Amino acid sequence: MNFLEERIQKDGIVKEGNVLKVDSFLNHQMDIRLLEQMGEEFKRRFADVQVDKILTIEASGIGIACIAARYFDVPVVFAKKTQSINLDGEMYVAEVESFTHKCKNQVIVSKKFLKEGEHVLLIDDFLANGCALQGLLSIVAQAGAITEGIGIAIEKGFQSGGRIIRNLGYRLESLAIVDAMDAETGTVTFREQ
Ligand code: 5GP
Repeated sequence: MNFLEERIQKDGIVKEGNVLKVDSFLNHQMDIRLLEQMGEEFKRRFADVQVDKILTIEASGIGIACIAARYFDVPVVFAKKTQSINLDGEMYVAEVESFTHKCKNQVIVSKKFLKEGEHVLLIDDFLANGCALQGLLSIVAQAGAITEGIGIAIEKGFQSGGRIIRNLGYRLESLAIVDAMDAETGTVTFREQ
């Protein structure tokens, strides 16, 4: 088991409905040392790739992306989920269905911050059905930028997102892939990588 799998085993909580709670160390309270290890690992896995910018989605991708960005030495752009009066000028917009909140959101990135020809690494906390990622991929495509890779903290391997994204030909690296989980016993089974 790698460091993230060990932490999930220790502190992750399996909830009904195939939801893994990692809010004590990843997406509510954040263990920055762990995020640093993750950032270092993303850098190691994408060492051969040109990365000009990291793109993530609010809210829980931001912390992971920011710490990872220190290792790549690039800026982070996060897609916003709500139109705000601060968003001025032209924007890229994509529709995203939320797994956890069971609703549809628009994700929005200002055209100022993503340009044609930029090499982008996408980072997010979870990959389930891949809706969030599809939204980000659409935004990169709209910009005429290049998706060089996708770094995910936790992929739920029993949901379809990972397979769909890999079949589309993207280079997808997940630090932990959960193949099964059981809410009754609290067991989490990881895929050997
Ligand atoms: P997807 O769009 O791939 O279906 O779901 C990805 C998004 O849903 C992630 O950004 C994450 O916020 C949320 N998500 C999906 N599954 C889980 C889960 O088991 N636990 C938590 N905490 N978030 C999840």
